[in-house]
Amino acid sequence: MVRAEHVISWMKALRQVFRANKEYLTQLDAAIGDADHGINLDRGFNAVWDELEKTRPGEISSILKAAAMTLIKTVGGASGPLYGTFFLRASSACADKTELGAAALVAIWAAGLEGVRQRGKAALNDKTMVDALTPAVTAMQQALENGGDLGAILAQGAAAAEAGMQNTIPLQARKGRASYLGPRSIGHQDPGATSSYLLIQTAANVWGKERSA
Ligand code: ADP
Ligand code: MG
Repeated sequence: MVRAEHVISWMKALRQVFRANKEYLTQLDAAIGDADHGINLDRGFNAVWDELEKTRPGEISSILKAAAMTLIKTVGGASGPLYGTFFLRASSACADKTELGAAALVAIWAAGLEGVRQRGKAALNDKTMVDALTPAVTAMQQALENGGDLGAILAQGAAAAEAGMQNTIPLQARKGRASYLGPRSIGHQDPGATSSYLLIQTAANVWGKERSA
């Protein structure tokens, strides 16, 4: 089961992961965007952690909501509102729940993805974060149906997100700043798909141990 303390651990780990990957994500964005994706997420998840330390929300949904509002407030560019929407929808999907079992966990990722799709209007293969999140959610739903535990579900979601991230390389961008480059966006890995992979990979690392669901 994933409880509030585990969601807090995820947020803390995300701050570290986006700090460690700040240069990498920024370099990916330098190739097909404006070289700020790593800077944006490092700033955003630092601010999320500061907010959590200050307000100490005790419920899963209020932690996710605090993350959402902070990302929307502090991250400029496309990814702030998109990840903000992801966490806001995830928060709504687990309102009043004190712990998340496998099904509830998959449901919050599916809700988050749906929010990103509605907000950004990107389809699969538009070379965006949707290309990592969509296969991740599909793989998690499949793993759930197959009776997998939390660890297996998250590991399969992370593996599918990684493959989806790599699949963005040959694609031409059709949404966001990279789409301005037209065919010149081909041959580069999408920064947002990469950060989405890190989001779920980190959840798999932090929550994968909570296998009792
Ligand atoms: P900006 O492009 O405004 O500088 P970031 O660099 O932080 O913002 O984020 C860029 C990432 O946002 C892209 O790599 C892409 O994955 C994602 N993105 C951009 N537009 C959309 C969209 N409409 N839907 C989903 N994701 C998008
Ligand atoms: Mg950018």
